[in-house]
Amino acid sequence: MKITILTTFPEMFTPLHLSILGRAEKAGLLSIREVDIRAYSKNKHHNTDDAPYGGGAGMVMLAQPIVDAIRDVQGEHFSGRRIYLSPRGATLTQKKAEELAKEEELILLCGHYEGVDQRALDLCIDEELSIGDYVLTGGELGAMVLVDCVARLIPGVLGCEESAQTESFSSGLLEHPQYTRPREFEGLLVPEPLLNGNHAHITDWQLSESLYITLRRRPEMAKAYLAGRKFTRHQQKVVDAVFERIRLEDESEKDPD
Ligand code: SAM
Repeated sequence: MKITILTTFPEMFTPLHLSILGRAEKAGLLSIREVDIRAYSKNKHHNTDDAPYGGGAGMVMLAQPIVDAIRDVQGEHFSGRRIYLSPRGATLTQKKAEELAKEEELILLCGHYEGVDQRALDLCIDEELSIGDYVLTGGELGAMVLVDCVARLIPGVLGCEESAQTESFSSGLLEHPQYTRPREFEGLLVPEPLLNGNHAHITDWQLSESLYITLRRRPEMAKAYLAGRKFTRHQQKVVDAVFERIRLEDESEKDPD
């Protein structure tokens, strides 16, 4: 996948070229390029912003350098997605990341100040995406979040495909707890089912813990997962045991004696 990030702060993106994504780039699975919007400004001082029409605080990014930069980057036969990182956008989810991971090419636009002249968005942007209900100073951190969660879904990037499929959100449940050596740490033990080597016990334990944690932390997500699922009789027993565990915990919380 080819990802181009349009920004006025290209130096902010060093972290994207390290670790897992850095290795994926070296392996040719991914190309991440930052393009400085300032280089496209036809303004005498290479400005990229100006005061807003209608008044108000802050500056607005000029349409001209953004439109020229996007047109230059996309070339004549672009068939990917052009995304503006924006608090007004739909919230980025794992489902959205899975959809974007299928694209051959992404162009990401990072805003700054009060945002971007609407005409640049009307002319050159397919979609606005937000990374959450809060306001950042610029779209750069948002672009990094998007690139990271999309890139790790590209086949080969993680090395172990299974890990992307079983973790939180992809399976419809939050992930079960994870443990590694040693067996005992400061008096806390690794749960027994993970130690006995019985794969069926491990799978039951993982389902049980995933469902438990999702019911506790994201009940709406657990409800959606349970509504769309047909369990085997054995799995249904595991699910019923989780509900019983929660019922007993809640009861003893209400009445500790
Ligand atoms: N005036 C804008 C508003 O109220 O919607 C906020 C502009 S914000 C200070 C500057 C830039 O940060 C935006 O153009 C956008 O690119 C980026 N940004 C801010 N919050 C974001 C979020 N939650 N998700 C993605 N990008 C965000």
